Amino acid sequence: MNPWFAKAIVLLSSIVMIIIRAPHGQRSREIKVVKSRKGPLEIVLLTVAGLAFVLSLIWVATPVLAFADYPLRPVPFIAGILCLALGLWLLYRSHADLGPNWSITLEVREKHQLVTQGIYRHLRHPMYLALLLYSAGQALVLPNWVAGPSSIVAFGLLFALRLGPEERMMREEFGKDYEAYMARSKRLIPGVW
Ligand code: SAH
Repeated sequence: MNPWFAKAIVLLSSIVMIIIRAPHGQRSREIKVVKSRKGPLEIVLLTVAGLAFVLSLIWVATPVLAFADYPLRPVPFIAGILCLALGLWLLYRSHADLGPNWSITLEVREKHQLVTQGIYRHLRHPMYLALLLYSAGQALVLPNWVAGPSSIVAFGLLFALRLGPEERMMREEFGKDYEAYMARSKRLIPGVW
């Protein structure tokens, strides 16, 4: 298959991701942070995740990573598109349900409310699942050994190291309410974990 199909999908999904995120990013800058757990490790991991996103766009726009290209095949390409679509839908839903309580990092905002409804009813980290699905989609669609898997590695690492501290922070903030929520919901994989 012509790699331009992959380039078109990577570009389109990146634009949709930015369109979903942008209004929430803007609003979150306007709400005061009352507690932050953004340590040096979190900053490094967030930077790496940002670089992975940029790497996919570098692959689209320049031949810099051409040395690591491999042929594009229809089956991973179609599977990747499905993962990207599902990931973007779940990202949209999680942002809608989390509303003004969202932060790009570990923070508690002014008038922070615990969300346990909608997509959060059964799953505590649907947004991380969304970004992992998106990254898996990118790994399947993008036929390059460097840019393809870069997001899944970066987000996998970020979330693996963040889930524990995030739940600790939420328990400190919401006490028994968060503990009860933990008892009746799963972390990342519906019905499993
Ligand atoms: N881990 C969640 C949220 C990601 S955004 C998910 O994957 O869907 C990260 C911020 O969301 C955290 O800093 C925390 O302040 C906030 N947060 C996480 N879970 C929340 C919940 N159930 N209700 C309200 N805010 C939450």
